[in-house]
Amino acid sequence: MPTELDRPALARNIAGFVRDVVGPIAPAMAHGMGPSPKRVVEAAGEAGLAGLLTPVAYGGAGGNHRDFVELVEAVARVDASSSVILDVHLSVGTEPLLVFGNDDQKSRFLPRLASGAWLAGFALTEAHGGSDAAGLYTRATHDGEDYVISGSKAFITNGGDADLYVVMARTGHGKRGVSAFLVEASRSGVSAGAPLGKMGLHGSWTAELVLDGVRVPAANRLGDEGDGFAVAMTALDSGRVGISAQAVGIAQGAIDATLQHWRHRGVSSDEVDLSTLADMEARTAAARQLTRHAAATVDAGRRVTLDASIAKLYATDTCVAVAQDAVDLCAPESNAADHPAAVRFRDAKACQIYEGTNQIQRVVIARHLFGR
Ligand SMILES: Cc1cc2nc3c(=O)[nH]c(=O)nc-3n(C[C@H](O)[C@H](O)[C@H](O)COP(=O)(O)OP(=O)(O)OC[C@H]3O[C@@H](n4cnc5c(N)ncnc54)[C@H](O)[C@@H]3O)c2cc1C
Repeated sequence: MPTELDRPALARNIAGFVRDVVGPIAPAMAHGMGPSPKRVVEAAGEAGLAGLLTPVAYGGAGGNHRDFVELVEAVARVDASSSVILDVHLSVGTEPLLVFGNDDQKSRFLPRLASGAWLAGFALTEAHGGSDAAGLYTRATHDGEDYVISGSKAFITNGGDADLYVVMARTGHGKRGVSAFLVEASRSGVSAGAPLGKMGLHGSWTAELVLDGVRVPAANRLGDEGDGFAVAMTALDSGRVGISAQAVGIAQGAIDATLQHWRHRGVSSDEVDLSTLADMEARTAAARQLTRHAAATVDAGRRVTLDASIAKLYATDTCVAVAQDAVDLCAPESNAADHPAAVRFRDAKACQIYEGTNQIQRVVIARHLFGR
């Protein structure tokens, strides 16, 4: 069994997956007509990428977060919907198991997730507000050896298609009263609403997840009772590194769209706004370096909260600004709904919102400065 990941082979796998799977479905995904999230992750599994962060012993590729951000950026450059599906599966959907799971939980779930046979989701946000992660209402009550979970979760990526959700539920008061559970979608009482209509990311499903008296064994609790807030925050810390990579990919895709637009029209470099194009590229390159730095921080086992917030804030603000520049530079054709710059612009916005809004990233960064 190989101990060292073959990185040139991984790079070829990523390039092949993007070329053969992501590229061909991108136009349909932009219209919400592509394959289901599960099918995207199955295809990633066939390419050996659905368990990128999972150790080889559990059927994964044994990659690190630097590998992970390479994959997410490469996919997002071509199709943001596929990237968010895969990012959630690999990151907040699977990483809590990697970090907090016991041997039994890892053996039961990781091989299925890593092969792409199962799709993962992460269920923290509730309708009344997601920024206050400790303020959730979904309850998990003891019943013999089991817990019974009731409540509802809002805006869940892969919702309705995932096989396994990491669900945060209340078992007591305050932050220490939140626990994390592995909930199989097949359990009685689990259901999901229809995918929401969104301004972008049309190929990614975002749905309400309803938990109506769902009975789960205590063996499905991640960590100890009361560890749920830490599970969620740890997942989001490295999850934000993935969102940063997604934002870098979308920004690079917007630059690609601009260049293609100009080439298609046969315009020369002295007929276009080179200065804005240069700024787009420079900002994207800076966002990539912040993202890679945050990934290296996770891989070094250091606390990544600050680096992840800085990367997420900068990269996602950059992707929105760069995509907007792309729309401007490609006007007036970019006003067409399916112009690649317009698709990028609509896809970019959610990156500033999910896995903690950018207002919350600013709170994290500024509080860190006060704490110094
Ligand atoms: C496309 C999409 C996919 C998503 N996928 C998932 C998923 O898979 N799993 C999941 O659990 N959640 C998911 N979410 C939810 C997302 O993480 C939340 O939308 C986000 O965390 C913000 O929570 P909220 O929408 O409830 O806003 P609220 O918390 O209600 O905040 C509303 C506004 O107030 C601001 N605000 C709140 N508190 C503060 C503060 N202290 N200081 C300054 N400003 C503040 C916020 O920045 C925001 O602008 C997804 C959201 C979207 C849009």
